[in-house]
Amino acid sequence: MWGRAAAIAAVVVFVACAGAVPSPVMAADAPPSEANSGNASTAAAEPSIRPKLKPDLKAGALGEGKAVRGEVTAEPKPEPKTPPKPADKAEPKAAAKADPKAESKADTKADPKAEAKSEGRAPLSMSELRDVLDQKIAEVRAKQGPAPIVKVQSRGGKAGRGGQGSEGAALAPSPSGPWSYHGETGPEHWARLKPEFSLCGKGQRQSPIDIRDGIPVELDPIAFDYRPTAFRVIDNGHTVQVNLAAGNRITVNGRRYELTQFHFHRPSEERLNGKQFDMVMHLEHRDIEGKLAVLAILINEGKGHPLVQQVWNNLPLEKFTEQHGLATIDLGQILPEQRQYVTYMGSQTTPPCQEGVLWLVMKQPATASAEQMAIFARLYPMNARPVQPTAGRLIKDGQ
Ligand SMILES: [Zn+2]
Repeated sequence: MWGRAAAIAAVVVFVACAGAVPSPVMAADAPPSEANSGNASTAAAEPSIRPKLKPDLKAGALGEGKAVRGEVTAEPKPEPKTPPKPADKAEPKAAAKADPKAESKADTKADPKAEAKSEGRAPLSMSELRDVLDQKIAEVRAKQGPAPIVKVQSRGGKAGRGGQGSEGAALAPSPSGPWSYHGETGPEHWARLKPEFSLCGKGQRQSPIDIRDGIPVELDPIAFDYRPTAFRVIDNGHTVQVNLAAGNRITVNGRRYELTQFHFHRPSEERLNGKQFDMVMHLEHRDIEGKLAVLAILINEGKGHPLVQQVWNNLPLEKFTEQHGLATIDLGQILPEQRQYVTYMGSQTTPPCQEGVLWLVMKQPATASAEQMAIFARLYPMNARPVQPTAGRLIKDGQ
């Protein structure tokens, strides 16, 4: 049984890694932040099978979804052919195998050692392995139920993940990416940290800005199509981010954008007529061409915010791991009653500071309680980029 379990684990590692290489899901792992969207949007774009399956395989392989890993390695099903040796010998090995550190090993070659572990037993043929995998997949699906799943964010520390990163998903080298909000990797140095961050220094349409002197106009209302949605929470080293399953959209100026994730900054990055708020939520949307629209909901201290509480309730215990929300999150609750907004063209507020981002800043702030704010402050006391020059940009102030 344990030999078989080990072989299964090995295959899972192999499949997860091998499958990941060409997969857009992986590429979307470190989607740009204010651009991160790639993340969920990619998952959204994928056929339903893959996102459902992959996360758990991957989680198992990377040791992220502990429960899942346990299930994979500990194979609860009664197996007729139990190896003579006690399981407690094999288990640590199998578990170690599935450990995150094994990732690189697995990258090289689906680990021959794992195969060796099925020593003493006739090795499973490919078709047997496939059967076993199919079975695992079916089990995973059954457990997940019908909820759509956003793919798992892999842990940081993986080269090649950062770069596009951002709070969004900047899972870059070094656990949280090469940039930060302080000191030598702080905002004034972002442009020098990597060539692809150069816009952070030389861009002319950067965000955030102090939003003032907008022209008062009647703006088309934003058409919201938000609904209760499956979600996962991750602390990505720059912020707390909520990755969302597909199905939430806005339409602005005749363009449709899909909501992929939202995250928080403390204090608010944008200012309204010079006023900075206690926090802000950024809801990242992407259209079919990949263009970003970020909706900002400012937050002041006041009444507790049920949706914020739900996010905090589902905070993962460790950074760079995603936690499934226990229920769906009702995004309808995220919006203020008044839907007037201010709009301008800007950038991501995190490296690589990509421009061409449509900003939609709701004029009515939401509230969160002092306790709710304090929880975020313990994780991120300050994660706001300073305001950037407006440089004559047009700001439209919806009445
Ligand atoms: Zn943001």
